[in-house]
Amino acid sequence: MKQKWFNLFPLIALVIMLAAPQALSAIDENEVKVALNTMNDQLAAANKDFAVDCVEFLTVDEEGIIVYANDHQHQLSSQWLAYDPWRFGTRDIYWAVDQVDRTADVPWADVNGAIGSAMNTWNTVPCANIPLVWVDDFGLDLGYVQYLVGMGGVPGWLADITFAGWMPRTFFDIIAPPSGGNNILGVTFTFTWNARPTDVAFKEIYYNDRFNWRINERYYDIETVVAHEVGHGVSLGHFGKIFRTPNGDLHFAPRALMNAIYYDILHELLGTDNASFCSIWASWPNN
Ligand SMILES: [Zn+2]
Repeated sequence: MKQKWFNLFPLIALVIMLAAPQALSAIDENEVKVALNTMNDQLAAANKDFAVDCVEFLTVDEEGIIVYANDHQHQLSSQWLAYDPWRFGTRDIYWAVDQVDRTADVPWADVNGAIGSAMNTWNTVPCANIPLVWVDDFGLDLGYVQYLVGMGGVPGWLADITFAGWMPRTFFDIIAPPSGGNNILGVTFTFTWNARPTDVAFKEIYYNDRFNWRINERYYDIETVVAHEVGHGVSLGHFGKIFRTPNGDLHFAPRALMNAIYYDILHELLGTDNASFCSIWASWPNN
């Protein structure tokens, strides 16, 4: 009897599986650098006085991914400067939420609620009084990175920290080749001033709409991921060692909101989150 072509599908699939290299990383750090430097070349060509300094990824399975556009600059990490005359001249840190690039996974009012709640968590740590202050988005499709990669956005910013919205997987493949869209939940971009490369100009946060976003459910809880990204917004890096047991479960030492891999719902700062935040912000001016 003649074989029908579609009967060969399992065999073809097996051959492809065996031929493909296993355990390929979704994010190639050198390719991310190329993507960041492409954006910085665009900014330089437009005579801008700021550039992308670094990008921090929160993933479902890859650990500790932070990529700097320029490694040589990084003896010191960048920080917000109180009363920065190029940044509204105030000690406040302003934040805005893009109301255009929405996820349809949950009611949008709940998304705004989760973002507000995560901001409140960071804004009420007793050791500091920044404060973090909400400002209007004016209905704009906020997002400078989006603009630079040709996926909407605007060439400007309204707030220090912009929640620039939910983007399709392709956006994450572009900023994190070859296939960051597979495993990046959220990302924070830090821009610094060219003349003062350790002072932050502004930050942007994006979420990957490839995932199923939820309110107070483990996969994937919006407030937890927002709170993590806001941690980058207030200059914290990743910390905690991550171990995977033979059954594939993750263990963190210590467990923290700023662990580099998403694990489960977490709406509060734990010990190292608090200590790290306070080491930066306790000395922020009080008025
Ligand atoms: Zn992170």
